Amino acid sequence: MPLPYNERTHDCGALRGADVGKTVLLAGWVDNFRDLGGMVFIDLRDRGGITQLRFDPTTDPKAHEVARSLRSEYVICVRGEVVHRGEKVNPNLPTGEIEVKAHEIDLLSKSKTPPYLIADEIETNEDLRLQTRFLDLRRTPVKRALMMRHRITKTIRDYFDRHGFLDVETPILTKSTPEGARDYLVPSRLEHGSFYALPQSPQLFKQLLMIGGMDRYMQIARCFRDEDLRADRQPEFTQVDVEMAFVQPENVMGHVEACLAEVIREAIGVEIKLPLPRISYAEAMKSYGRDAPDLRYGMTIKDVTEIAKKTDFKVFREPIDAGGVVRCIVVERGSEMTRKETDGLTEEIKGIGAGGLPLVKVAEEGGNVVFQTGIAKFLENEDVKKGLIEATGAKVGDLIMFAAGSEATVCKHLGWLRSTVAERRNLIPENQWAMCWVVDFPLFGYDDEEKAVYPMHHPFTSPKDEDLHLMRVGSDEIPPKEDILKVRAKAYDVVLNGIELGGGSIRIHRSDVQGKVFKLLGLSDEEARVKFQFLMEALQFGAPPHGGIALGLDRIVMLLGGFDSIRDVIAFPKVASGACPLTEAPSEVTTRQLRELGLDRLRT
Ligand code: ASP
Repeated sequence: MPLPYNERTHDCGALRGADVGKTVLLAGWVDNFRDLGGMVFIDLRDRGGITQLRFDPTTDPKAHEVARSLRSEYVICVRGEVVHRGEKVNPNLPTGEIEVKAHEIDLLSKSKTPPYLIADEIETNEDLRLQTRFLDLRRTPVKRALMMRHRITKTIRDYFDRHGFLDVETPILTKSTPEGARDYLVPSRLEHGSFYALPQSPQLFKQLLMIGGMDRYMQIARCFRDEDLRADRQPEFTQVDVEMAFVQPENVMGHVEACLAEVIREAIGVEIKLPLPRISYAEAMKSYGRDAPDLRYGMTIKDVTEIAKKTDFKVFREPIDAGGVVRCIVVERGSEMTRKETDGLTEEIKGIGAGGLPLVKVAEEGGNVVFQTGIAKFLENEDVKKGLIEATGAKVGDLIMFAAGSEATVCKHLGWLRSTVAERRNLIPENQWAMCWVVDFPLFGYDDEEKAVYPMHHPFTSPKDEDLHLMRVGSDEIPPKEDILKVRAKAYDVVLNGIELGGGSIRIHRSDVQGKVFKLLGLSDEEARVKFQFLMEALQFGAPPHGGIALGLDRIVMLLGGFDSIRDVIAFPKVASGACPLTEAPSEVTTRQLRELGLDRLRT
């Protein structure tokens, strides 16, 4: 009689000392086998973990014989008795107190020799691992990622369910959405020359759900963007998508931070203090040089433009005269940095567009604070020196690093410098989870090359009520660019350790405001109608004030699990070229398929 593998009593990670004496039925993969002078030991593995099996030739010669023929990754089912390991307890294994003395075994499936060892730490390159992802999935880190992802997704769904959100699915075959990345297109068979777009997000649909009276919506939604890939980018990725009717930013932020706090507690047992700090975009850029500030460490950026005006230093004066700024960061005990280190930073910062890296060391000479090396000779004026020390709080032994130029470039350079120096000098405390909201984003950005205004978030994001006058809503007037760029949005991003987890906004529900936004973006009424026709139409039939957010699920799992890449937390990810090594997608199709789609002219 074959063993009833469908009646397994435990998984391979479940048995403990308290189970000694029980008869159990286990099934799984051979992780490891050792034939020790007659006694055969097998490590049996399944999703739950590993249990050691012992086959003794004197008690069960038949089972022992089968056990001797086993090889890595064979699939077996065994029945046996749980026994204590006595002196041989393995404290590194959850099941290490016991082993199963097996007396019956069935070989369910043989395996070819795997191309690499199925172990926790392996050097095998990622391409090969992904080609054989069915083997890679058996490794603990990969299993752990998927299990954690499941737990996080479940926590999120439960949170929103408890608070009255409906989980609604939205179409995958659809029309362009407004996120502004490149679309994936799917040709229509029935209407040659027409294409569906895969959604970059469910943005338009979730707004329609609100207009349709669904009140609160959430979806774990797959999104598609045809962009160049990076470690934290995949052509298809998952968003926790949320929308609510009759809300202000605080309501959306309140739910999202409570949900994230629950997720973090559930996933890694850390308590996040709520409410999260709110930092304006302007403040984030000024003090951290980024719109996603890392609050785990200080070294904030200080503005010293007024003091720099008092110097004759050309590198400071010229940008200031052109309307720019001079700012700096203070590296605590940075004087100990070697010439090699600072020269290295200088070269790198030049690589992102800076002219150089002006710096000084703060030292002491005869009881006086003095500046040394770098640009010290330009800062000798007592007033300048005192002013800088006061404005920056720099102490003897510190190093001050400057950037001068337009506001935007200075933010970029010092933002880079702050995080790079923090990383290199180990200033980032471990196991800290610093979260915040960044609010009051500008509604519009300006593309210098295209000479055009673009939406910072998407064109349905609402301006702040108090900034409507800057847009001249209610008149046909096009305001000057300075005013347009001053308009702030009811938009918010949630940030963890300097990484944006997601962002959203309150949407425009007034057609006059929406019309004006399109106009300022250079879209004619007609163009807007063609692009977003159904939303424009719906907005005219009683749209409630509404708003929402989308969070990057892959990124959340990656950060909480301590993984390096979002590929690590996706079951079947793609590589940098956009290809799937396992299925070899994208791949050629038959001429017949192309003909049906009216695309056969593409084949040469
Ligand atoms: N759909 C937006 C995005 O994917 C998020 C939102 O506004 O809710 O960025």
